[in-house]
Amino acid sequence: MRPLLTALLSDPDLTTSSRVADLTLRGFARGGLCVPAGGQATVPELLAAALPDGTVRTGVRATSVSTHAVATERHGTFPCEAVLVATGARSAAALLPGLRVPDFHPVTVLHHAAEEPVPLGAPEPSFTVCAGRDEDGAEDAAPVSHTWVASAVDPSRAEPGRTLVTSVVLGERSAEPPAALDKAARGQLARVYGTSTDRWELLAAYHDPDAVPAMPAPHDPCRPVRVLSGLYVCGEHRDTSTPRGALVSAERATEQILRDFGRPAVPGQLAQEAAA
Ligand SMILES: Cc1cc2nc3c(=O)[nH]c(=O)nc-3n(C[C@H](O)[C@H](O)[C@H](O)COP(=O)(O)OP(=O)(O)OC[C@H]3O[C@@H](n4cnc5c(N)ncnc54)[C@H](O)[C@@H]3O)c2cc1C
Repeated sequence: MRPLLTALLSDPDLTTSSRVADLTLRGFARGGLCVPAGGQATVPELLAAALPDGTVRTGVRATSVSTHAVATERHGTFPCEAVLVATGARSAAALLPGLRVPDFHPVTVLHHAAEEPVPLGAPEPSFTVCAGRDEDGAEDAAPVSHTWVASAVDPSRAEPGRTLVTSVVLGERSAEPPAALDKAARGQLARVYGTSTDRWELLAAYHDPDAVPAMPAPHDPCRPVRVLSGLYVCGEHRDTSTPRGALVSAERATEQILRDFGRPAVPGQLAQEAAA
């Protein structure tokens, strides 16, 4: 179970609360894993498309917020009646001083392109969790925690005729230079996929030191979303470090805003599902 939990929680030391680990395993058993077709940006694009034109502005960085205004880096100040801060935990704490900043699990994602199908003749998409150590016990040679053929899951992620393999490095090793990680990962991936990786092209290596907010015990998955009347906060750092956690916290914040402004608030769909 350790390699699977490590991959699901982005936590090689498994310091995550066991309750969160139980919830994560439950989610995995019930729903499996998913990525949005077309790439991660598809999700906010779909959410924005459901709103009236002009509701969402992108590329605007907020520099400070109050109950009646949002100041931005290059777009002036927007007056408002209330603010809901929906950034990651570190930005939220910068905009709302006093908010707790959690520790984070760092993550590096490697994207390799191959000219041939990987693995050759594979019947269906697979997600491979690596054991953390190489067969001969050499951890140095095996930095990848988990890997999958992304273009088999979502063909739009690769050019026609090419294969995209996405692999994830967790923990301290994720901070190593991309060239060193690439070199070490190739040997491991060759064994995982049973094919030579010599000709694979490293398309990108993304490192995020603040990728996943840590959830050590005792973890509170229901952190307050109301700072004061008119000032609210949501995001995965208020709940669990998953897209579902982000959405549930957004539902809680929305209900709170409606209540504060005297509007009827219906219990959120996700909260109802969780209670069922
Ligand atoms: C490397 C990696 C891979 C992942 N892969 C998957 C996956 O395959 N499938 C899956 O289901 N989940 C995946 N996740 C998890 C998922 O991305 C998160 O759980 C989810 O994005 C959290 O949502 P959020 O709304 O809390 O924060 P975010 O999605 O981080 O949204 C916060 C937004 O706030 C913006 N922002 C920050 N500061 C400011 C500011 N000052 N002004 C204006 N805007 C600001 C940011 O640009 C960002 O768009 C992955 C996470 C990581 C780190």
